[in-house]
Amino acid sequence: MKAMVLRNVSEVEHRPLEYEEVESPQPKENEVLVRVDKCGVCRTDLHVVEGDLPLSVHHVIPGHEIVGKIVRVGKSVRTLSEGDIVGIPWLHHTCGKCEYCITSRENLCENKMYTGYTVDGGYSQYAVGEEGYVFSLPKEIDTGKLAPFLCAGIIGYRALKVALPRPGGRIGFFGFGGSAHLALQLAAKLGYETVAYSRNASHLKLAAELGASGTVLTDDFLKTETRPTLDGAVVFAPVGGVVLQALRELKKGGSLSIAAIHMSPIPEIDYDKYLFGERKIMSVEANTRADAKEFLDLAQRLKLESTVSVRNFTEANDALIDLKKGKVVGALVLDCSQ
Ligand SMILES: [Zn+2]
Ligand SMILES: [Zn+2]
Repeated sequence: MKAMVLRNVSEVEHRPLEYEEVESPQPKENEVLVRVDKCGVCRTDLHVVEGDLPLSVHHVIPGHEIVGKIVRVGKSVRTLSEGDIVGIPWLHHTCGKCEYCITSRENLCENKMYTGYTVDGGYSQYAVGEEGYVFSLPKEIDTGKLAPFLCAGIIGYRALKVALPRPGGRIGFFGFGGSAHLALQLAAKLGYETVAYSRNASHLKLAAELGASGTVLTDDFLKTETRPTLDGAVVFAPVGGVVLQALRELKKGGSLSIAAIHMSPIPEIDYDKYLFGERKIMSVEANTRADAKEFLDLAQRLKLESTVSVRNFTEANDALIDLKKGKVVGALVLDCSQ
């Protein structure tokens, strides 16, 4: 099969992914083999390719927002069949035995495996997923539109629950990319008041189209004194300074969640000004399978629509460069069907 393979991490401008002919994966008895149709491009892929996240394997095929059709099932697979349209997300496997797994926190499992990071992912024609970690998707929806749900959507949902579990308050989204554009829609449809913050005007335009109650150009708001108005905030940008921007907007008793797997250092926080008053900060690490099921169900019921641009998977380096430069409005998806 054809795949975009990472052998040596480097700045994405050096085009570290190579288009290669490699052996197709063989599904183990509890796995399914999927013919990849589309694979979303997540910021985590950029962190993998550039080495912000240490690589524990010699080479890997990135991509963990996989949508495709099952073409083979392992011997012990019972709940999935050939021909099913499925999604393969970031969480590839958990141990089921560690202190986190046995307390419904499998997202923190000590021995978990990740699609497109510790096992090969979806910048490729075929990929495997383990039964229980692969999700059935509706057949009638455009696969390109579904791909960003698999990580951007699920993580945004978890971050939203952490920041403001009870709908009705005012929530701010800092950094408006693939994940925020789904989380904001979801929040708006669930009855939250939503505000998008970004330094990119085209990102804010999309936020307004998706139903944001307000949009704030961060370069402008940083020049003025503002009064905190947010009950909850989610930081999506992997930039430590943005955490301070969000804290500045957070009311007493408010919660801030950080939906980033890697972040530049957070500047010193003035406790009296930004944290006192029972403000809370929490990071979000991956997701449980329950989060994934809840989000995919909500996305379907509330008819969430992703805004995507699609490129051929052989252009994965260019796609990641665009993502790094902030050129992507909504989410980026690779077409792996060729
Ligand atoms: Zn575990
Ligand atoms: Zn991701």
